[in-house]
Amino acid sequence: MRRPVHTTESQSPLKGQGLGAYVSTQSLQQESALDFSGLQLPPPAEVEERGFGALCEQPGNEAMKYRIHNIGLWLDEPQVLLTKRAAEKLRIGAEHLKSVRVVRSVLDARKKGNPRYIYTVEAELASENGKLPSLPPDVSEAPAAAPPPKQVRPPEKRPVIVGTGPSGLFCALGLLESGVTSILVERGKEVVSRRKDVAQLMRDGTLNPESNMNFGEGGAGAYTDGKLSTRINHPLVRKVIETFARFGAPDHILVEGKPHIGSDLLPGAVERLREELTRQGCEVHFGRRVENLLYANGRVAGLVLSDGSKLETDRVVLAPGNSARELFERFAAEGKVSMDPKPFAIGFRAEHPQALINRIQYGAAGEDPKLPPADYKLVNNLEVGGELRGIYTFCMCPGGVVVPTPTEPGLQCTNGMSNSRRNSKFANAGIVVSVSVDDFARAGFQGPLAGLNFQRHWEAQAYQLGGGRYHAPAQSIPDYLAGRTKRPLTDTSYRPGLTPADLNRLFPAELTASLKSALRDFDRRMRGFVSDEGILIGIESRTSSPVRVSRGDDFQSVSVAGLYPSGEGCGYAGGIVSSAIDGLRIAAQIASELA
Ligand SMILES: Cc1cc2nc3c(=O)[nH]c(=O)nc-3n(C[C@H](O)[C@H](O)[C@H](O)COP(=O)(O)OP(=O)(O)OC[C@H]3O[C@@H](n4cnc5c(N)ncnc54)[C@H](O)[C@@H]3O)c2cc1C
Repeated sequence: MRRPVHTTESQSPLKGQGLGAYVSTQSLQQESALDFSGLQLPPPAEVEERGFGALCEQPGNEAMKYRIHNIGLWLDEPQVLLTKRAAEKLRIGAEHLKSVRVVRSVLDARKKGNPRYIYTVEAELASENGKLPSLPPDVSEAPAAAPPPKQVRPPEKRPVIVGTGPSGLFCALGLLESGVTSILVERGKEVVSRRKDVAQLMRDGTLNPESNMNFGEGGAGAYTDGKLSTRINHPLVRKVIETFARFGAPDHILVEGKPHIGSDLLPGAVERLREELTRQGCEVHFGRRVENLLYANGRVAGLVLSDGSKLETDRVVLAPGNSARELFERFAAEGKVSMDPKPFAIGFRAEHPQALINRIQYGAAGEDPKLPPADYKLVNNLEVGGELRGIYTFCMCPGGVVVPTPTEPGLQCTNGMSNSRRNSKFANAGIVVSVSVDDFARAGFQGPLAGLNFQRHWEAQAYQLGGGRYHAPAQSIPDYLAGRTKRPLTDTSYRPGLTPADLNRLFPAELTASLKSALRDFDRRMRGFVSDEGILIGIESRTSSPVRVSRGDDFQSVSVAGLYPSGEGCGYAGGIVSSAIDGLRIAAQIASELA
């Protein structure tokens, strides 16, 4: 069943450093490209076109494989043309091709009313000894398969991983591939029982602080949209996507430019991954919250769990996600684990009818059923009050729903998700402005938990403005810009319910000014974005971690040896893929120490 594609740590460009957020800050032009499902190609024999240049002989008998980039197809062009176009770019006859497979497809919607798909394909030559005499434009040699991971001596005490989010699960997988089994400790429930708690919060606003959108098997990643796009360009991105596909996520994620699994299919893949880990000797403990660390001689010596029990180990991978507030508070109170406040971003979730976003993005082609629901990504950098701020859309969910994501009673925050078919009638995205340590200080918050307390403060204000039970304070975008709350709200996907409110009452004035200025700019770039049909829902605050647990080049805490801060919560990743990669890199580091 296993088909590992392994990349060694030496290939990693960022030793010890974080992997950034899954928010992209690229230009709108690049970002109007959209997802596309996988496709089947007919065999080359069905293609009639023949006769281009020639091949030369190469020593050995390996059939050469080439990657051919930038092959465009209009929506009404048949996919069979890909073989012909690949052969043209290779300057050979199509009869010289043994196979052609799509490795990437991206919808290019820059030409409004006339979108097309841009493909990268991999072509294998028919002749065993054939090789191109030189590489034509848009052609590269296909990358060689990575070598299998090196097996290492298992340690006396198994490493313990805190959290079963993408970071924890992929760390366990990476360790296992090197022959090391681990113990995973998770405060929440396994993914199937967790579903009921998530549903209840959506239905009637009852929060289970231990089992919710953030806590439980699969982490914040499990009931999320499952968008696997990332702005990081790391060799392990491919491994993460292939792993999800191997454990049952749909194969089209292997070729999509912006792979998307969907909240309905992601939990199944997570469950199968965990089953494989346990089948091969890992232990997974659910419903056990880590309360603190045990120390001996400046090293980690184990963990104290919520049931009072202790787990001894000399290696702890700390992957508790960005909402593990009690743990960070414990660390700050004790002062043993070095930690700093970290900038993040805060704002609202914007929701529009999907049909409106389709019209804006696709123009005349907006109703073409061959097109997926349109997405968008917008970025604006502004100087407000002498400070440069980034305001951007975050985690855009075409055909999605807005969901409540609190972990503590009396605090309101939201996020977005969508099912694999992206068939809700709404489109939503976070619209957030970056906040810095200076912002925390201006609001009266200091020390390592300054960002966390700033986040919590605004979540409490939003809860009050919403009137309780996770009803979200909300306002139409034009009313927010005008500072009035007169108009009734339009329809929404947010299940607990909306409370009409003036969102100008949230956030310091300079943040509000930045958000408003960016919204006007977004409307200039996407005409109709500011319309009565668009609403803002409060608030989006868990965009990334408000703390960073300091670690060195050896991936270990700078103050506690044997502690490996990992993933989004410790400040080294943002999003499913980068968190998973961070876990894999820590696994590689531990394996290298054991080799
Ligand atoms: C609704 C929603 C939608 C999202 N959509 C996307 C998306 O489409 N694409 C994307 O890339 N990202 C998305 N994200 C973000 C993504 O889920 C996170 O970036 C990612 O899950 C972080 O991975 P992680 O492993 O670092 O932490 P997490 O996934 O947060 O996992 C941490 C785990 O640790 C456990 N834990 C916490 N404290 C303790 C403790 N004290 N003891 C034991 N266990 C503990 C938690 O229960 C949790 O299971 C979304 C997030 C949300 C909330």
